[in-house]
Amino acid sequence: MAKFSFEHAFELDTLKRLVAQHQDRFRHQSLVDLSYRGEPLAVTAIELGQQDKPCPTVLFVGGVHGVERIGAQVVLAFLSSLLNRLPWDTHLQALLKEIRLAFVPVVNPLGFLRGSRGNGNNVDLMRNAPIEASGKVTFMLGGQRLSPKLPWYRGSGEMEAETSALIQYVKGLQLESTSLLCLDAHSGFGLNDHIWFPYAHSDKPFEGMGYIYHLKRLFEAAYPHHGHYRLGPQSHFYRTHGDIWDYLVVNNTGTAPFIPLTLEMGSWAWLRKNPRQVLSFSGYFNPQKPHRHHRILRRHFILMQFLMDSAYGRVLEQVSPAQLGLLTHDAHRYWVK
Ligand SMILES: [Zn+2]
Repeated sequence: MAKFSFEHAFELDTLKRLVAQHQDRFRHQSLVDLSYRGEPLAVTAIELGQQDKPCPTVLFVGGVHGVERIGAQVVLAFLSSLLNRLPWDTHLQALLKEIRLAFVPVVNPLGFLRGSRGNGNNVDLMRNAPIEASGKVTFMLGGQRLSPKLPWYRGSGEMEAETSALIQYVKGLQLESTSLLCLDAHSGFGLNDHIWFPYAHSDKPFEGMGYIYHLKRLFEAAYPHHGHYRLGPQSHFYRTHGDIWDYLVVNNTGTAPFIPLTLEMGSWAWLRKNPRQVLSFSGYFNPQKPHRHHRILRRHFILMQFLMDSAYGRVLEQVSPAQLGLLTHDAHRYWVK
């Protein structure tokens, strides 16, 4: 397997450039300060919109896994589009008076610089939260403590700085939000674009399933030609230890709807069309031809805009307890049976 070492990562440079160009339009902070070869390195969070009162919030996350560069690129492309629209787009200006948008485009900057899935300690951040899977996990892929030299390493038991920084940040957002929708962008094996919701650690039904079913119906009715997503509980695909979103759901003490979604863009579709990519490790997870690249950056904008618009429309806040009961019933019939 080829080893990569990047002095620079395009995604980190893009993020820096966005911050430098547009910083008067948003608030930004470093969630944790890391370093690489003596140089300081931040995990940057950016927020736009309402900040004075509890409101609906949408959080876009990317770059949890250093080799899945397209996830960070999709989040950065969307953020950049919003920032460029902001001066003239009065719809967007009105929306941002009512909701908060948050972005953590690169959770694992060291992985991006090193060209590794894991962080600087080779820990897979999405296997690193303190939550154990119940029953059998998928062998290796589900998370392992055998060796940091093997993929899907969970770490020795401590939370990594990046993992705990993201968890603390999301907990803060939970407290300030009347609803919190998250989209965490990854790329992985398979042909299809998947959207997963909890749980990854167990096949017990996610309590927020009714809300997800509601969003699914609204999305399909509004965008009938964007039905390329396979939506389901992550444990239907594989079961893992240490999932950050599961941890946040299980430890959430608030009452506001908290809906974490994981977008896993199917990278085999790119491979099939461009078999040369097999030769490069990063090619497994990243589209390489420019037109294909544009298509993928474009492909998820509707979904991201939908999440924003549904937050602005307070569609989750408006669900009554009786409605939620019916939606949850339908969701069970659809996903659990
Ligand atoms: Zn991933």
